[in-house]
Amino acid sequence: MPFLAAIIRRVLHAVLPAECAGCGTALTDDPVPFFCRLCWQGITPLSGPACPRCGRPFASPVTLAYSPRHLCGACRMRRPIFTQAWSLYPYVPPLQKAIQLFKYHKKVALADALGDLMNVALQQPPDVDLLMPVPLHPSRLREREFNQSLLLADRLNRRLRLPLSYDNLIRVRPTQPQTELNRAARLKNLRRSFVVQRPEEVTGRRILLVDDVLTTGTTVNECAKALRKAGASDVYVGTLARTV
Ligand SMILES: [Zn+2]
Ligand SMILES: [Zn+2]
Repeated sequence: MPFLAAIIRRVLHAVLPAECAGCGTALTDDPVPFFCRLCWQGITPLSGPACPRCGRPFASPVTLAYSPRHLCGACRMRRPIFTQAWSLYPYVPPLQKAIQLFKYHKKVALADALGDLMNVALQQPPDVDLLMPVPLHPSRLREREFNQSLLLADRLNRRLRLPLSYDNLIRVRPTQPQTELNRAARLKNLRRSFVVQRPEEVTGRRILLVDDVLTTGTTVNECAKALRKAGASDVYVGTLARTV
């Protein structure tokens, strides 16, 4: 068997890059594809004070010391439709690089390692009935070949073991990548983009929406709007990472 393992490793090395995508050192028997052990172990969950509604990190712990329900400026200005959002890691290298390889360069081999990161950091899973990935528009799905959020939701669900619904909430309008737009344009870009096809499946349900990266929260909030309109009682949001 060790001989076979050595052959498999050699074959994998022929198709996988030989250097860590994080730091460039030569990869040997590192357990996560594309990354060395040191880089991967350096990925640290977000901790410290954050907005209890959207998870935006606060600069100072004092913010929550005397008012634990203190909301961030964005949430005070416009209450999100979702009940609560958690983001588990800051969207910084090398995780940022890993998510980009996964999402834009079809490195699906990273799904397990990224899912493990979610499972490690999500200490107390929310009390929900149903898991849902943020959907892609069919044209985007064709181009990318997989929905990265569905793969993450699937890995998360190996622990949560809940019904996973991936074809009820759909994206009906192709949208420009949100990162290229300002806030007003993001909202306009996304308005009425999401539709629940079978409302009876979400009525009265507590839903955990899963996505890879949270930027402004506009996308998940639009999903939450469609789900609440269809009768969902609560919509929670769990993302692997968030921009900080
Ligand atoms: Zn490295
Ligand atoms: Zn907030």
